[in-house]
Amino acid sequence: MKHKFFVATYGCQMNDYDSKVIESLLVSENYEKASSAEEADILVVNGCAVREHAEKRALGFMSSLKKVKNRKKMMILAGCLANSVRILPKFVDFAVSPTEYRFLPDLIKEKRSKRDLESNGDYTSIKVNQGITLLAPISKGCNNFCSYCIVPFMRGREESFSPESLIGQIKMSMNGSVREILLMGQNVNSYMYRGVDFTHLLSMVLDEFKSLRVRFITSHPKDIHIKLIELMAENKNLCSHLHLPLQSGSNRMLEMMHRQYTYEKFKSIVDEARRIVPSVCVTTDIMTGLPYESDEDFKKTMHAMEELRFDDAFMYRYSARRFTMSRYLEQCDETIALGRLKEMIDLQLKIRREKAQSMLNRSVEVLVENRSARAENEYFGRDLSNRSVIVKSGRVKRGGVYRVKINEVRGITLKGETAEEI
Ligand code: SF4
Repeated sequence: MKHKFFVATYGCQMNDYDSKVIESLLVSENYEKASSAEEADILVVNGCAVREHAEKRALGFMSSLKKVKNRKKMMILAGCLANSVRILPKFVDFAVSPTEYRFLPDLIKEKRSKRDLESNGDYTSIKVNQGITLLAPISKGCNNFCSYCIVPFMRGREESFSPESLIGQIKMSMNGSVREILLMGQNVNSYMYRGVDFTHLLSMVLDEFKSLRVRFITSHPKDIHIKLIELMAENKNLCSHLHLPLQSGSNRMLEMMHRQYTYEKFKSIVDEARRIVPSVCVTTDIMTGLPYESDEDFKKTMHAMEELRFDDAFMYRYSARRFTMSRYLEQCDETIALGRLKEMIDLQLKIRREKAQSMLNRSVEVLVENRSARAENEYFGRDLSNRSVIVKSGRVKRGGVYRVKINEVRGITLKGETAEEI
């Protein structure tokens, strides 16, 4: 009888990819995916250490599994959280970090963790099970050491994967469901492999997979190059979406964060992107509550949000993370930080509502990803600028691309009817 495994994922798209690698490795070793934690012999919690909130959720879920854990079941902690937790709870058998997944089947047999210096977290030689969106990390780690960020300590120094191995892996992992490729990196713009930079790599991927949409995440404002935006303008399959984390509108804060750009530089990139690709959606990450953030700094962030009118923003309260520089500074008052976060969210919601209204009666190309959980005959998809769209139709199928006319806007939700399959 096959042993069964269950993987729970908490974190970003990099964690999603990690879980796909873990699942693919275990399936290739004859393990079977369980439909619930209860029926699994091996429980894997793949968690993220980047924000305190995400870490608490993953560890909380792991604790909740104590009730199904018995002597016959194995509990494993994975993801960058495996590098962050110093002392494992007793009910956890071992931890496996992102550079060690290759050894996971052996570690399960030996029931122990292993630190192998030969492993490097490059899984481009592995066939990974993928869905409609094929996740493809182009690099690992980060060299930027922003003062608040744990990533360089958890995922190590930046290393770009070769274009050949990356394209090879995409081909190997291709299946009938894949409709788009998401190239991922902590900072895709600093990709460099023997003279091949990110724009060059993108052109290679677009050339090789002409029938698929291509997206990428995350861009760093200090490294982004205008030729990337020009490529977006030239190539319809390259989605017109730029996720560009601002973090703060105050140059004083940006300097303390060690972000290596000014607000003026950031604004010039957004203005240029919108000039060259008018349909581009610009999304961002913004933080509040970093040590020493004053009312004046916060006002500048709010001003930046009003001026730049992001299509969407991930807004969060700073939390002190292990190893980082800013954890040693005097921390911002929690009530003040939470109040600022609420103000930011309210402002962004207002902007998003106005942007959603401007989409009324426009036609967009939607890639249908899933049936909506809320209503029958409704499907969830994304347009070429990565906007979420609810498609009302009984005739669409997952993975299909349709021209959709937006005929209803509720708050920030866009809904439309299909006109035709593309
Ligand atoms: S660029 Fe900065 S915030 Fe982003 S992963 Fe690297 S260190 Fe963290």
